[in-house]
This record gives sequence, structure tokens and C-alpha cells, in this order.
Amino acid sequence: MGRKEPAVLILIGFVIGILVGTMCQRWGWTGVVDAGSLLGDLFLRGLRMVVIPLIFSSLALGIAHLGDVTRLSRLGALTVLYYIATNFIAVTIGLVLVNLLQPGVGVTLPLGEKPQTPSLTLTDLVRSAIPANPFESLAKGETLPLIFLALLTGILLLVAQKEGEPVRRLLDSVLKLTMIVVRWLIAIAPLGVFGLAVSLTAKFGLDAFKPIAKYAVVVLLGLAAHGVFALPLLAWTFGRTSPLSYLRRFAPALLTALSTSSSSATLPVTLGCAHQAGIRDEVRNFVLPLGATVNMDGTALYEAVAACFVAQVLGMNLSLSQQLIVFITANLAAIGAAGIPSAGLVTMGFVFQSVGLPLEGIAFILPIDRFLDMFRTTVNVEGDIIGCAVVQKRLQ
Ligand code: ASP
Repeated sequence: MGRKEPAVLILIGFVIGILVGTMCQRWGWTGVVDAGSLLGDLFLRGLRMVVIPLIFSSLALGIAHLGDVTRLSRLGALTVLYYIATNFIAVTIGLVLVNLLQPGVGVTLPLGEKPQTPSLTLTDLVRSAIPANPFESLAKGETLPLIFLALLTGILLLVAQKEGEPVRRLLDSVLKLTMIVVRWLIAIAPLGVFGLAVSLTAKFGLDAFKPIAKYAVVVLLGLAAHGVFALPLLAWTFGRTSPLSYLRRFAPALLTALSTSSSSATLPVTLGCAHQAGIRDEVRNFVLPLGATVNMDGTALYEAVAACFVAQVLGMNLSLSQQLIVFITANLAAIGAAGIPSAGLVTMGFVFQSVGLPLEGIAFILPIDRFLDMFRTTVNVEGDIIGCAVVQKRLQ
């Protein structure tokens, strides 16, 4: 199979899925929608199935393969610096646009019910990263504790050297076997993406969109500015990479992100593409699993725009210092958001509370959260992909 084939087939699956979904919505073909969502669900479950062994083995080995602590600190520092810088750029773009275009001014929306999603505080976030019972956290699929455990195991392997050899070999084998499953999943991705596109399009209603269309446009404009200009510019200047041909090799991952709205579920595909694109083991195994969990430029931008939009609708003028708080909390909330659909909504409570916005305001943006999630997740994954190019170049 040629290298470009999976991407082209996935794109075809996606486009046909949208067309079929539109027809299903118009003519009420519920049987087709059910079949499509089953297909999509099976694909999504397959991806989720490999995420825990993949994050754990790739991240722990990514560190272990570095060979010494100095190299780990360089890779770690570069990666974290990249994550912070891109998150800051994303939130800045969001705040500038929402202030310039004022999508919430003049909009009247009834204050809804308090959302059922639990809100998060900063201390919860920090506490949740260290698992009191690692097995319980893994069984629940919690990603921050998983990252913590993987980092710890990697550092232990690096420090213990010979004593850790059996564990290192076991993880090596786990990673290799998981990557075989990943190749199979990428092979069936066109079908899975087709199914997801059918069920998403069939369920999508324009009615929910109308009152908050301007807000959606601001979020999409911000995501486009970040994804089409800012990130490619970073790839060009700091990664010395031609962004278009580089990103083309990651098209399967970007399309999977668009159709699953989950950075974690996309991770297997992203890792597979990075392998094909020639990103070195140590870099991709460190930057991608960590990024899928903590580096979310799209989510950070989205949270900042959402908070300012709700404030505008409620006629609460956020001062400059309050916007600075939004800037900081949106960045933290994006780190805390898990790489799953609508996770950003949960951590948004943290941003709202920090500037005294009522949590009920989240109800304004609920109707189109899932739609916008597709695009912010794609930007989240793109941020990790460009991160590989930048970190690889700078580490040389
Ligand atoms: N769905 C996003 C992701 O997986 C997180 C979010 O913003 O809800 O990257």
C-alpha cells in the first residue's frame, strides 16, 4: 500500500460520510444512521482500547531510550517550553478576536440550568495527577495519573539502568505489539471515519446554531488563525520544516481527530504517522503521548473565547485584569482537560469561577460544543504534530 493511500481513503470516507449523513437527515434513514454509528463506535472503541498501553509504554520508553538525565531534561524543557508558548499564542488569538468582534454583545439568551458536569479547581487538578491507587486510576482510564506513572517509570528505568532491563524489554514488546494493532486500525480508518461522519452529520441540527452563530464564527476564526498560520509558522521558523508537506503526512491523524473529537483516541494514528514521517523514536514517544493529554491549544483558545462570550451576553464587562485571569486559567484548564470529547466543558467551570461568571452560563454554549469540539481537537492534535518537528530540530 502506497504511503499516501490511507490519507486519501480516509478523506474519501469522511466526505462520503457527510453526504450520506445529510441524506439520512433529510429522508429519515434511521437504519443507515444506526449502522454508521455502530461502525464509528467500533473504530473508536478499537482506538481507545490501545490508548492506555500505548501512552504508558511509549512515554516510559521515550524517556528510558534517552540514556541519561541531561538529555531528558533538555527534551523535557524544550517540549514544555513549546507547549506553553503555543498555548499562550492560542489564548492570545482567542482573546484578541473575542474583544474585537464582541460576539456576545446584544445577544439575549435565557440563563439555563446549572450544568451537570462537575467543575474543577486548581487543587483538584494537581491532586488528581498523583494516583493513590494506580490500578484504580488506570481502570477508570484517567489520563493525568497515567502520564504521571509513565513519566515515573521512564525516569526509574533511566536511573536503575540494568535492574530495570526486564521491565524495559517487556514495555518494548508491549509497544511493538500495540503498534501492530495501530496499523490495523489505520487500515480500517476510512470505514470508521465514514461511520462517525454519518452519525455526526445526521444528528447535527442547524436550529441550535443560529443564536450563537457569531460566537461559533469567532471560535472557528481563532482556530483557523492558530492552525493555519501560527502553528505552520512555528514549524517553518523553529522546526525548519515545510509545513504543508509535513502536515500532509499527518492527514490520517488530523482527519481522525476531526471525526472522533478525541486527542487520546487519535494518539495511535498520530504515532503511526510520526513513525512514517521519520520522527525519531525518542521525540515522538515523548512529545505525542504527553501532548495528547496536556497540550491543547484549541481547547485553551476555546475556553477563553467562551468565558468572554458568556460575560458579554450577561453584560458583565471583564476588566483587563480579569481577562488576564481568564488567560491564565484557560491555559491551566486546557492542561487539565482529558483528551476526550467535550472534556473542555468540564474544565471550563474553573475558568468561569475564577472571574465570578455563573456556571449556568455554560448552558449558552452547550448546543454547539460538540460541533466546535471537532475543530478544536484537530488543532490540539496539530499542535502536538508540529511540536514533534520543532523539538526534533532543536534537540539536534
Ligand atoms: N475533545 C478535546 C480533545 O480531545 C478536548 C476538549 O476540548 O474537549 O482534545
